[in-house]
Amino acid sequence: MNLRSDFPLFQAQPDLVYLDSASSCQVPEVVVTAMADYLRYHHANVHRGNYQLSQAATAMYEAARERVAVFFNSSAAQVVFTKGTTDSLNLLAAGLAERVQAGDNVVVSLAEHHANFLPWQQLCAAKGAELRVIPLATDGTFANLPIDQRTRVVAVTHASNVLGVVNELTDITAAAQAVGAYVVVDAAQTAAHLTLEPTALGIDALAFSGHKVYGPTGIGALWLSPRAVAELPLYQVGGGIVRTVSATHSDYVQGVQRFEPGTPNLVGIAGLVAALDFLAAARAQGSHAYLRDLTQQLLSMLKDFPQLRLLPHGDGTIPVVSVTSDDPDVHRNDLAMLLDQQQIAARSGHHCAQPLVQHYTTQGCLRFSLGVYNQATDIQRLQQGLSKAFALLG
Ligand code: PMP
Repeated sequence: MNLRSDFPLFQAQPDLVYLDSASSCQVPEVVVTAMADYLRYHHANVHRGNYQLSQAATAMYEAARERVAVFFNSSAAQVVFTKGTTDSLNLLAAGLAERVQAGDNVVVSLAEHHANFLPWQQLCAAKGAELRVIPLATDGTFANLPIDQRTRVVAVTHASNVLGVVNELTDITAAAQAVGAYVVVDAAQTAAHLTLEPTALGIDALAFSGHKVYGPTGIGALWLSPRAVAELPLYQVGGGIVRTVSATHSDYVQGVQRFEPGTPNLVGIAGLVAALDFLAAARAQGSHAYLRDLTQQLLSMLKDFPQLRLLPHGDGTIPVVSVTSDDPDVHRNDLAMLLDQQQIAARSGHHCAQPLVQHYTTQGCLRFSLGVYNQATDIQRLQQGLSKAFALLG
């Protein structure tokens, strides 16, 4: 598989080894073109104009919702456009606030990105509710499910952005459904690598970001179950979501559009649609198996470095691997800097997942994550880069 040439960045920088796709994927030319075409030839506000250009923009916006619905194997009536996963999760925490009272609990896991931890922590603090954290087993999966009659929301990541371990959702949804709790799934790390079937999963909400599926930043999509669409209160208010407004009463639209006040990010939406098409074509060419194989190569290469300790990891379905070092003379930031000097981009830190990372290491970790543009030569370059870095560190 060779999709590297589809990406302008690698045409401009052929020697760049980009290993940070779990943060943001690089963007293929087709996405850049779709966004530029929208701005050049189709730009107008939606819903407001009687003229053709505005009507075409509105049609594009609703067609994009249909496209995202196909991605979710669901209906457009369940799809909300947001700024991204963080925005979606904040919308959900705000919307579910009235269901959480003192003495209730909200369940998250130790594997959460801060985006799916902090909104619930804030909510629980404000309500006098308990934030329960699912502990992790040694393989990085959920050790148990502290769900009970007082659980109102279970908000979990589909896969950790540090470990790449995929979490089975079946037991969670069964336990949550038994007590009527809402189930929220953070699919930021799985959207590019798994087929998402939120309806079949029996969950209430699922969020992902455009920039993690080869699209632009500032756009994401949130899938909501029919009960969530019907029950969640308004998040933000403004133009485009009202039928009539007077000093005493306003009549809001029904359905997912009521979560989208203001002018939508139409450039981002044009890019997201092109990105989902790109992703579908890559999948049809075998990108899943390709990336799983490449991640296995990465894992076995890293295991040959005795200076590194691998954090728990998955089977490569999510192409993310993190390492740390227990040697106080080897700091992950030094390693990342020495790799960067060799044009190898890898991420060092706590990856916005401090509870998880601190569970495994006080040092933070170095994360390598892959995209469809990576090749076996990138793994070799990383091997050489790490060897050189360790030689320099003595
Ligand atoms: N959840 C997970 C698992 C993530 O990896 C990320 C991005 N690193 C987010 C949430 C937040 O996504 P965004 O920054 O696009 O809102």
